[in-house]
Amino acid sequence: MDKIDCRKFYSEARFQIISNQFNVLIDHITDAVDVVDMSGRLIKVNNAFEQMYGWKESEIIGRKLPIIPSDFLREAEHLHERAKKGGVVSGYETIRMTKEGTLIHVLLTISPLVDMKGNVCGHIGISRDITEQKKLVNELTFVDQLTKLPNRAYFRERFQAELSKGQGNQYKVALILVNLDRFSLINESFSQLASDLLLKEAANRLMISIGTEQLLARLGGDEFAILCMNISQKRDVIQLVRKILRQLQSPFLVDDREVDVTGSIGISVFPQDGQTLETLFKNAKAALNLAKRAGGNTYRFYDKEVVISKVDRYLLASELKKAVRRGELEVHYQPIVEVKQGILRGFEALVRWKHHRMGWISPVDFIPLAEETGLINPIGLWVIRKACHDMKELHLLHGVPHMVAVNLSPLQLENKQLTKQIREILRSSGLEANRLELEITESAVAQNVETAIETLKELLQMGVHISIDDFGTGYSSLSYLKRLPFHNLKIDKSFIQSGKAEDEAILNAVITMAHELHKKVVAEGVETFEQFDLLKRLHFDYFQGYLVSKPMPVGLLPHFISEHAFKITEKSDGLAGNVRELI
Ligand code: C2E
Ligand code: CA
Ligand code: CA
Repeated sequence: MDKIDCRKFYSEARFQIISNQFNVLIDHITDAVDVVDMSGRLIKVNNAFEQMYGWKESEIIGRKLPIIPSDFLREAEHLHERAKKGGVVSGYETIRMTKEGTLIHVLLTISPLVDMKGNVCGHIGISRDITEQKKLVNELTFVDQLTKLPNRAYFRERFQAELSKGQGNQYKVALILVNLDRFSLINESFSQLASDLLLKEAANRLMISIGTEQLLARLGGDEFAILCMNISQKRDVIQLVRKILRQLQSPFLVDDREVDVTGSIGISVFPQDGQTLETLFKNAKAALNLAKRAGGNTYRFYDKEVVISKVDRYLLASELKKAVRRGELEVHYQPIVEVKQGILRGFEALVRWKHHRMGWISPVDFIPLAEETGLINPIGLWVIRKACHDMKELHLLHGVPHMVAVNLSPLQLENKQLTKQIREILRSSGLEANRLELEITESAVAQNVETAIETLKELLQMGVHISIDDFGTGYSSLSYLKRLPFHNLKIDKSFIQSGKAEDEAILNAVITMAHELHKKVVAEGVETFEQFDLLKRLHFDYFQGYLVSKPMPVGLLPHFISEHAFKITEKSDGLAGNVRELI
């Protein structure tokens, strides 16, 4: 018998004992343990490993670890190399794969395996399944908690990924921003819970509208975004946004009441409207603003020509400065007519800009620019002066005085010189103060309530009339109106044009209140006979809209006035029913 090498026998025995203990020990560990040799082949896995990954030890022993997804092979190799050099990896987050192919998130610890001589002979990997925690964290990080839609962070990540896909090839992506019209009003009028439910319902309707190639997210508040991936033509996007608008059009049930919440949509398309996520967002937002300014319930594509970038705005601002001098500004007049008898009350003055190269530019676009640059003061004053002079001339020509309503920007209301300037204009034009009406929006007053009220009172003392414009679009608060000195309430055209029973109920309440406060109520945007019937039903006092006439240049007013007066005398019974024929 060969001489027994006691030392070797002892160490093998000790190794056996240790390895038995080791096996018992690792089988009691709840984390998955795998032991591999220097070549990365499996020597041992524990019970938890078998349960977690679904592989039996006997199936995989001697093989390379089958739990590493192909995308992670290089990373695993790198970790293995590190362990071979005696390095320890602890708390490393990565992805592993079960026998069934399910990917799971794991927290990995890798320690070198050292033999009796102290040499590294492999490594021990311990992995803990953290998929559930990860889901929870992901949900908190990437999911909007109210609607359970992806949130802004997730949307941006996906959007960025789509943009990288599209660089340098034909790939087109559209960003669609959706906002709910008048949501602030609803938010103010109903409970938090009711507004939340409405947002959830809106989210559901948007979800119904989109297809599998689109991603819907809630960015916050009433802002939603849709990413349209791989679009081939503009028509597809148009079809989608029309579908969304239709979905939003049917009334929402809030606190057992039917409420109308339409949507406004702005769209930018990669790559033509921007190469980066930021630019595409900015441009879609600009398009959205256009849709809102068009009265909502509509969509707009980003259009460089229409939506002016910051640099272009700078150029346009300098053009606007010259516009007055070049005589490019004009004032057009839209008739305001009495509802009951159809008698012409006067006109609203609406400024127009005909640029010598760019053609007509809407006040919707250049008034905000004039406000930003401070040009609104001289331009606004020019409009008041022109309107007062035109009206006085018309009076002298026809012998019948008419009033003129001029829009006043919030900035003009803050101007301490305003009353003095208006007094001077009235004096020089000869127009009676009570023939001039100034239209202000509630938001104009809200910006600086005390100064505004002070100025309004001074104007009132001079005899000038005041109208509250676009009523119902801002943070309308009826109680707040009580504090304001004014004569007329102009209801925004979105109410007149909605045709919804709920809006009629709101109008009814507003008109009753206005009449109780001895104010007159004016409807704008009246285009159809149905809308005119509504005015009569609800006892509106005055109205204006395409049904009577579009705003027209001053040169057409004499003709309009004589035609209108002729029709009135023709129908001398002058009853409301005849207004239909009259116009
Ligand atoms: P606004 O004061 O609400 O003016 C009414 C707008 O509705 C006008 O648009 C008018 O042309 C349009 N409109 C009139 N009837 C109808 C209709 O039946 N249907 C439809 N769909 N629209 C109708 P416009 O002239 O483009 O003016 C837009 C806005 O620009 C005005 O809204 C006002 O806020 C502002 N604006 C216009 N002129 C001036 C001005 O001289 N000074 C200031 N500060 N703002 C002005
Ligand atoms: Ca107005
Ligand atoms: Ca208005």
